[in-house]
Formats: sequence, C-alpha cells, structure tokens
Amino acid sequence: MSQQLETTCVQGGWQPGDAEPRQVPIYQNTTWRYATGEHMARLFDLEEAGYFYTRLANPTNDAVAKKICEMEGGTAAMLTSSGQAANFFALFNICEAGSHIVASSAIYGGTYNLIAVTMAKMGIESTFVAPDCTAEELDAALKPNTRVVFGETIANPALAVLDFEKFAAAANAHGVPLVVDNTFATPVNCRPFEWGAHIVTHSTTKYMDGHASAVGGAIVDSGTFDWMAHAEKYPGLTTPDESYHGVVYAEAFGKEGAFITKATAHLMRDLGSIPSPQNSFILNLGLESLAVRMKQHCANGQAVAEYLQQHPKVSWVRYSGLPGDAYYNLAQKYLPNGGCGVVCFGVVGGREAAQTFMSNLKMAAIATHVADARTCCLHPASTTHRQMTDEELEAAGVGADQVRMSCGIEAVEDIIADIEQALAAI
Ligand SMILES: *Cc1c(COP(=O)(O)O)cnc(C)c1O
Repeated sequence: MSQQLETTCVQGGWQPGDAEPRQVPIYQNTTWRYATGEHMARLFDLEEAGYFYTRLANPTNDAVAKKICEMEGGTAAMLTSSGQAANFFALFNICEAGSHIVASSAIYGGTYNLIAVTMAKMGIESTFVAPDCTAEELDAALKPNTRVVFGETIANPALAVLDFEKFAAAANAHGVPLVVDNTFATPVNCRPFEWGAHIVTHSTTKYMDGHASAVGGAIVDSGTFDWMAHAEKYPGLTTPDESYHGVVYAEAFGKEGAFITKATAHLMRDLGSIPSPQNSFILNLGLESLAVRMKQHCANGQAVAEYLQQHPKVSWVRYSGLPGDAYYNLAQKYLPNGGCGVVCFGVVGGREAAQTFMSNLKMAAIATHVADARTCCLHPASTTHRQMTDEELEAAGVGADQVRMSCGIEAVEDIIADIEQALAAI
C-alpha cells in the first residue's frame, strides 16, 4: 500500500473522473439496460465485467468494497447485507456437506451458532478450540476433511486476542486457509493479512459504520491461498461450475480473484444478502472518519479500563491494553496502536449487581450493539449469549457477572462520571 491508511479511509475506493461526482453516488437501481442481448449474455457468462442486476453487482457497493479491500491490503472484496452473511458466505464458499471447520471458541455468539448449529444441519461439522490452546492441541483439531480455520482478531465479547502466528501455522501445515473476523480491530489497528490470514471478514455494522446506522458485512481476500495446489479439497473453486457454463473459478480468475468471484457469482446469486446501495453509502461515510474515531475509542477504552481496575466494586477487568491482562503480550505484538474501545468487567455481586449497574447508567445506553460513537453497554449472559449453556459460556469467556462496555468517542471524563454514579448505586 503506497499511501497511509488514514488517507485510504478518506480517498480509497471511489476515484471520480473529470466532472464526475466527488462523493460516491448512490446507484439506487436494480437493473441496467443494454442495446443488445448478446452484450448482456457475455456479462451473464462472466466473460465480460459489467453491471446488469444489483444482486450480483452495483457500482456503489463495489466502490465501498474496493475501499475496504485497499484498507486490508487485499486483492478482491465484496459487501454483504450483514456480518452474519459475510461469515456464512466466507465459510460456505469453501465448505460443503462432509467438510469440517476448526474455530476458536472465543467468537461472537451469532457466529458460534452459525457454525455449531446451522452449518451442522447442512452436514458441515466443527471443532472449537480454546484460543489459548497449545500449537499441538490446535494441530490435533484439524482433520483430513478440515477445510478452514476460523478466529476473531479481538473476540466479541471475550476480548481474547488471536494468536495469528499459531493459527496460521496450523492452517498452513494442513493446507487450508485461515479466515479471520477483523470486526473489532478494524484494519486501522490490525491487518490480518500481514500475519498470515488468507481471508478477512467484517461486520461493518460496528466501528466501520460507527454510528449505529446500517447493518452490513464485508469479505476480503488476500489472494495468497493457492486453491489449485489443494484442488481436491476445494472442488467448488477448482472444478467446472456447470451453472456458469463450466467456468473453473481458480483458473479463470486466479488466486487473486477466484474466491470473491465465486462468492458473488454463486452464493450471492443463489442466496441473496446484498447490502442496499443506500446502506453502502452510509457505511462509506463511516469509513471516512474510521482512523480518527478508532484513536479516540482506544484512548477512551484504555482510560476506562484503568479507572475500573482500581474500583472496589469491580472484581475483574479485561482489556488487552492493561499490563497484566491475559492478552497484553499478544496485543503488544499484533495491536501495537491499540485494540478497540470495548472493555469487559465483572461487577462484585454477580448477575444481579451487573444488572443494577446497567439500569443506573444515564448516558451509556443499554443496547445490543457495540463499537458505536455513543457509549453503550450489554450484559451478554442474558442477551447475545443466552442460548449457551454455562459450560459453553465459560468456553467462550463470558461470565454471568460480565458487563461489556463499548466506549464511544465522547469526552472520557463524562463516560467515567456515568460509570462512577452507576457503580455507586449498587
Ligand atoms: C456483530 C458481529 C457479527 C455479526 O454481524 P452483523 O452485522 O450483526 O450481522 C459478526 N462478528 C463479530 C465479531 C461481530 O461483532
């Protein structure tokens, strides 16, 4: 990347020509007209690039995907209607009935459900490994039918930091790609491709949008996984797709383009889940200020974590920027400029005290949301993770006393004053 990330946030993706709109236009149309049927047939056969129907491609969506691609340092990217769709498409693009997924157990509850329950119903099995497992344990979890290894840069809400080198080594040793959900760190704080990840996913609903305005997702390919070298494992990419007149994605689009082309031409065609162009426009406004906002989120997160750490009504604090945190060393290595604005802590008195604390917050909103300009908080055990058993909660690193505090970009004095008075009410 020749330019700095701060510049890409503002300038990436959309480069208008002479007398064209400076801001990316919203192409709020479903379809395009063509003068001849032959021309459109070439588009349908993927022989020529061009727009014909927004489910398959739209210029607004493409411009914003291109910006995220540049920010991550990838070769191809696509947007989806949600982070859930992004993770599903990224996994299902290379898994089918009979495949096996190895995933860190410290991941977002929705993704855990997707893999453990929904994909299991499709005949795709999975093994979850503790993020702190040894390299040997991780290696032992991979089987001959494993097709992908999955983790989150900073796990939501466990806040475990992924040991990229350990997970990438296991994936490489078995000839499968490492897919990393980079939602919490964003490319501002971590670029997983630099640490061996092959594919990155995002819930753009979080910091990228940043204003609680638009649900969305993204998939970015590094272009570094050699599908043809492992052709027997990935028939969807390396054998003819009869629904596209026999195109072999890995041959026609190379390492750089095969994964995203297949996910678009095949999965998006059949399953839908495109973002509306209007939402992509809103996402792009968020991206423009992402680098600036992340600095403030991280500074506020650090200050709040330090404040909570010395408070007698707080039993524990998890924030990878705190010396002594279980993930401090990994964060120093992979997130040297900070991680995110999310701090987790336990309230003395457990589940009930945690709920009292939350009901007494005045500025911070109780919201099933995170990574927003406005400070908000959540009690995961009774909301996002309520489908999990106590054992599963523990494996995911979520206790019943745990509050997840997402520090916004307000003045940190005001965030701390709100926490102080709510803790006093317990
Ligand atoms: C929120 C979230 C998701 C799901 O994204 P949606 O946009 O809500 O569908 C996936 N992964 C992580 C890490 C998340 O925080």
